[in-house]
Amino acid sequence: MSGWGRFHNFKQKPCAVCETLFTPKSGVNKFCSTACKGKWKYITGSVTTATQYAYISGNWTRYVSRLLYHGGRKRDRLDRDALLRVLERQSYKCALSGVPLTCKLESGTQCPTTPASTGSLLVDHISRVTSRLSAAR
Ligand SMILES: [Zn+2]
Repeated sequence: MSGWGRFHNFKQKPCAVCETLFTPKSGVNKFCSTACKGKWKYITGSVTTATQYAYISGNWTRYVSRLLYHGGRKRDRLDRDALLRVLERQSYKCALSGVPLTCKLESGTQCPTTPASTGSLLVDHISRVTSRLSAAR
């Protein structure tokens, strides 16, 4: 290591994410780039449902984006802007019951006033469940 000069104090090592050899700026650097650093939490699984929910909770744009997916697949004929327009047209209230809708997500529980999309309308969770039940009768 002698003769490397003070800017080369650290040996090259493989990035913890992509395994590319890089020269760390400090002894604790594990990643070759900020992009790899950002991926680390997904690899280690430290992004939990709870932190994901906290990120979406209270943000309509993010919540609506989530509604576009059902069982991991993007639903047809739905897009985020269209759903946001529906929300505005309904004044952020359920199309069936008129209760104010919320976009609160909590792990393990279904908030009764979070909306579900029926296609062109947004209804709260309770109304959706009851309208399904009555349709089944
Ligand atoms: Zn890397």
